[in-house]
Amino acid sequence: METNNPPKVYPCAIIGGGLGGLCLAIQLAQQGMEVVLFEKNSYPQHRVCGEYISMESWDFLTELGVPLADLQLPIIKQLGISAESGFMLQSSLALGGFGISRYSLDQYLCLLARSKGVTVLENCKVNDVKAADDQVSVIHTSQGHYFAQLICGSFGKYAPNFAKPSHPISKNSPNYIGVKYHIQADLAADRIELHNFQDGYCGISKVDKDQYCLCYLSKASNLQQAGNDLKTMEERVLYKNLWLKKYFTQSTFLYDSPLVISNIYFHPKAAYLNGMFMLGDAAGAITPLCGNGMSMAMRASKILADLILLYHCGEIDKTALANRYITAWKANFNNRIWAGQYLQLLFGKKQSTQLALKTLARLPALTQRLIGLTHGLPF
Ligand SMILES: Cc1cc2nc3c(=O)[nH]c(=O)nc-3n(C[C@H](O)[C@H](O)[C@H](O)COP(=O)(O)OP(=O)(O)OC[C@H]3O[C@@H](n4cnc5c(N)ncnc54)[C@H](O)[C@@H]3O)c2cc1C
Repeated sequence: METNNPPKVYPCAIIGGGLGGLCLAIQLAQQGMEVVLFEKNSYPQHRVCGEYISMESWDFLTELGVPLADLQLPIIKQLGISAESGFMLQSSLALGGFGISRYSLDQYLCLLARSKGVTVLENCKVNDVKAADDQVSVIHTSQGHYFAQLICGSFGKYAPNFAKPSHPISKNSPNYIGVKYHIQADLAADRIELHNFQDGYCGISKVDKDQYCLCYLSKASNLQQAGNDLKTMEERVLYKNLWLKKYFTQSTFLYDSPLVISNIYFHPKAAYLNGMFMLGDAAGAITPLCGNGMSMAMRASKILADLILLYHCGEIDKTALANRYITAWKANFNNRIWAGQYLQLLFGKKQSTQLALKTLARLPALTQRLIGLTHGLPF
C-alpha cells in the first residue's frame, strides 16, 4: 500500500550562498539547527567585489573556522585616494583590513558549511516562496519544492520577483556598473588605493595567491557614451586619472576578460519583508567606496543567527524575532549606510573630489573620523 509521508520541513531555509547566507548557515548549524541553503550558481566562483575586508570581521571569520592566520593574507593599513588630477590623499587606516578573493573565501565557507551539516544545494535557483500554512513556507526551486519554517533572504543586490523591495527604485537613483579584474601590479601589499574618475572610482589592493584585485564602479552612462564598449570607456574616462592609466597599461591582467555586472543601485531596502529575514545586500547595499559591504553581511548574519537561535529554543516568538531583528539592523547599519551615501556624493566629480581630498589632507583627524564612520568595531 502506498503511504504519503509528510514532506520534510527544515527549521530554516537560506536563499543565496554569498557571505551573508553561508555565514548564517554555519552559525545555525554549529548550534544544531538543520539548515538548507539554496545557491543558484556553483562554487568556487568569481564575483564583482573589491575583496578588501575590514579587520572588524577577522575574529568572526576565524571563530567560524576559516584559517585566516594560515593563509598569509595581505594586511592592509595604508590608504591612498586620488582625484582625477592626480592629487593623492595619504592616510593610515586605524583598523585596516585584509585581502582575500571571493573565489577563495566563498569556497572555504561552503566547505565549512557542509562540514557542519548544512544542506548546500548548488545550481539551485529559488523562483518563488509562498506560505503553505501559517507555520510553514513552500520554496519553489529549479530542483523541486522544499518546505521550511523560517526563510532568510541573502540573495544579494538583485531582488528576485518574490522579494521585490518595498521601496520601488526612484527614477533619480543613479544606475552603476561594476567591473573586476585580477592583476599583477606594482603596489605595496599593505596598501589600498581608490582612484577617482568622472562618475566613478576604482579600488586596487592585494588579495591571496599573489594577485591584486582591481575593481571599479562607474555610472552606466559612461559606458553608454562609449558605445557600450568597456575598453573604449576605460581609455576615454578612467585613463584621465594617470594613476589608473598606469595600472591599466603597466600591469599583467590575469583574466581573458573582466567580470562585469550592471544595474547596481544603492536605494533603501527592508530587513524583514513578506515574512522573510533579509541580510547582506538584500537588506541594504552600502556604496563600495566604504569598502565594507562584506563585513556588514557577516555582522548581520551574526545578529540574525543569535535571534533565530532564541526563537528556535522557544524563548521568543516570530513577531518578537522580526521586531528585534529590524531594530538591531537599523542600530548597526543605518549610520554606516548614511555615511556611505554622503561620502559617495563627494567622489567621482572632478572639482569637488579634488577640493575634498585637499581639505582632508590638511585635516588628518577629520580623515580618520570619516574612515571610522565607514568601519565598525570587531564582533
Ligand atoms: C564594485 C563593487 C565593489 C565592492 N567592493 C567591496 C569591498 O572591497 N569590500 C567589501 O566589504 N564589500 C565590497 N562590495 C560589497 C560586497 O560585495 C557585498 O556587500 C557582499 O558581497 C554582500 O554579500 P551578500 O551575501 O549579501 O551577497 P552576495 O555575495 O552577492 O551573494 C548573494 C548570493 O545569492 C545568490 N542568489 C541570488 N538570487 C538567488 C536565487 N533566486 N536563488 C538562489 N541563489 C540566489 C547569488 O548567486 C549569490 O551567490 C563591493 C560591491 C561592488 C558592487
